[in-house]
Amino acid sequence: MTDLLFTLPPQPVVPVIGESRAFPVRRIFCVGRNYAEHAKEMGFEVDREAPFYFLKPTSALVHTGATTPYALGTNNLHYEMEFVVALSGHAFRATTANAMDAVYGYACGLDMTRRDLQISHRDKGRPWDFGKAFENSAIIAPITPKAAFGEIGPQRITMSQNGAVKQDSTLDQLIWSVPEIIAHLSQFYHLAPGDLIYTGTPAGVGAVKPGDVLHGEITGLAPLDLTIGATE
Ligand code: MN
Repeated sequence: MTDLLFTLPPQPVVPVIGESRAFPVRRIFCVGRNYAEHAKEMGFEVDREAPFYFLKPTSALVHTGATTPYALGTNNLHYEMEFVVALSGHAFRATTANAMDAVYGYACGLDMTRRDLQISHRDKGRPWDFGKAFENSAIIAPITPKAAFGEIGPQRITMSQNGAVKQDSTLDQLIWSVPEIIAHLSQFYHLAPGDLIYTGTPAGVGAVKPGDVLHGEITGLAPLDLTIGATE
């Protein structure tokens, strides 16, 4: 074992419902614009040409129940409630017929977004990282194994802010289905155990402020809670 100059924080993990062992996280992929109504509210038409992605560092991962400081460098921090897919198998050049073999389970997630930076960078042709890949930006609740969840279909995905429902859709509204996303991504990456995929947010995204309490639910999954703390 090579001696290290300093030690890093432990590898992030996600608890699993009904399982004493945790899910170790390798990478975090996120799908952009994957619900038609959300694409519309962001000023875009539905695009079946090809899905697109961005990544977040695993250091951005935060467990449900946390209070996170209002993000640095933004005046327009947004919530995006999402269905998260957790992989425990490999997928490389997968097809939609075998893509689901790599899936371990699912969880509620929030893709926190510095909307002002995302849009200004996007409009200048710059990377999305400053808007998407920042500290405390990937919130996750415990994972439910695939078999316990069943088929992905009409399950409801909702998110409320201070008790008021802001996002309310169903998983069958995904433009790109979970097997389609895995099959497509696996043409560009060797998908592997520990990979998480945030599958995109329904319509109703909006800004948060310090003190806000967010509560997300997807039928059949453990709910997600996040409190927005003060600016550092
Ligand atoms: Mn998103």
